[in-house]
Amino acid sequence: MSISNLVADTIWQKIESTHSVTDDQLSILHFIFGKNFERATRIFDQGGVKRISGEPSGRSIFQVVGESRKKEEYLCFPEHYCSCYSFFYDIVNRGEELCCKHQLAARLAASTATCIDVKVSDDELALLLSKL
Ligand SMILES: [Zn+2]
Repeated sequence: MSISNLVADTIWQKIESTHSVTDDQLSILHFIFGKNFERATRIFDQGGVKRISGEPSGRSIFQVVGESRKKEEYLCFPEHYCSCYSFFYDIVNRGEELCCKHQLAARLAASTATCIDVKVSDDELALLLSKL
């Protein structure tokens, strides 16, 4: 794991423990993730992050809106995966970025406990996951 990732993880954990984010934390995250973080904060500010939880299991996945006019939504796990093109191209394929803007937006919303919570049945969640 890279140093940047370790620093970012420490900051995410701090934000999670207080459910609030300081200007200093924002500037460090911006330093680490650059333009992707700016884009993520725009998505976050628009309330573009939903957490879809299955009941009764409580398993969840995030649904994050894109920035294009079409307003596509991407399914993502903040730490591991996003269904967008950039995740496969920039992160998995070229290894140039640590994560995409949707993952960052989801992480920001999750750690500040400000995502829109949507409850579905476990069957519906399974159906959603089967389309990944
Ligand atoms: Zn993405």
